[in-house]
Amino acid sequence: RLKEDPSVIDFVESILQGDRMILSKAITLIESNAPHHFEKAQEILGELLPFTGNSIRIGITGVPGAGKSTFIEEFGMLLCERGHKVAVLAIDPSSSISGGSILGDKTRMERLVKNENAYIRPSPSSGTLGGVHRKTRESILACEAAGFDVIIVETVGVGQSEVIVRGMVDFFMLLTITGAGDQLQGMKKGIMELADAIVVNKADGDNKSLAEKTRKEYNQILHFLMPATKGWETKAYTCSALYGNGIVNVWNIITSFMENTSESGAFAERRKLQAQEWMFSQITERLEQSFYQHSEVKKLLPIYKKSVIEGNITVTNAVNDLFHSYFKKEK
Ligand code: GDP
Repeated sequence: RLKEDPSVIDFVESILQGDRMILSKAITLIESNAPHHFEKAQEILGELLPFTGNSIRIGITGVPGAGKSTFIEEFGMLLCERGHKVAVLAIDPSSSISGGSILGDKTRMERLVKNENAYIRPSPSSGTLGGVHRKTRESILACEAAGFDVIIVETVGVGQSEVIVRGMVDFFMLLTITGAGDQLQGMKKGIMELADAIVVNKADGDNKSLAEKTRKEYNQILHFLMPATKGWETKAYTCSALYGNGIVNVWNIITSFMENTSESGAFAERRKLQAQEWMFSQITERLEQSFYQHSEVKKLLPIYKKSVIEGNITVTNAVNDLFHSYFKKEK
């Protein structure tokens, strides 16, 4: 029944009917670096656009071992039981940098994978972080058109990727664990300031009271930070993903966040701002690509680099010359 090469219309109709197999095929087009795939994907997305946006987009970050997959599986199963359709997408900064993967290698979320109301997509395995960024944002849209009303974007907490995920979700959550006493000091304040909730996982067994202590410490620090979302107070909570404790509570927090921000207008305002920022970041990225791929620039760049290093030309004059060649050739 699956045509080898479905047309744009076939794609659109099947996705709108919630066909996960065609959705996967569409995301493969979105992720492809081949120009004709890219163009077809853009046509499909253009048709799907009126059917997107009706979801809550949740970002989850945490260091490897914090319990992200355990949490997302438990959380996802709960939501499916409650009649939601849950899509899980991932951004794996390690695959962009080293070609290896922190997120993708192990078999993850075995129960959720089998649930017919869930869709799990491993992270795009190639390209720059900027490219991965576009692919994930467009995959979110495709999933929404397919009827998924909860979209989870997971990322490993190693810096840049948190900022990218924060820029594409409504609610951003930091999953953390208790550990060495220096962990709180070591944690970058900047990441805490991105979060709408901090959840201390593994609050079970002997670790329960320690997790509670950590939660309080986080709350003390949060008290002095700028909230990530206007009108919403970011707080710390505990949970045990392994035993399923505190998971319902996280959903309740997200629900009340939705109510609060929808009412205040902060939700819609953020979505608008995100669309706008995404446009400008794409412009910047494409300009940069076009500059570095320009044949004359490519030829001159190593020469100017050498001159700059050797102190034979000022950086500004080198850049002026390079731009001159770039624009001259364009005409
Ligand atoms: P990820 O790397 O962040 O995706 O972490 P995983 O979900 O793979 O979990 C890492 C390890 O921590 C696994 O051995 C899990 O079984 C364990 N783990 C996850 N959540 C909990 C929890 O709530 N309590 C306890 N005790 N262990 C957990």
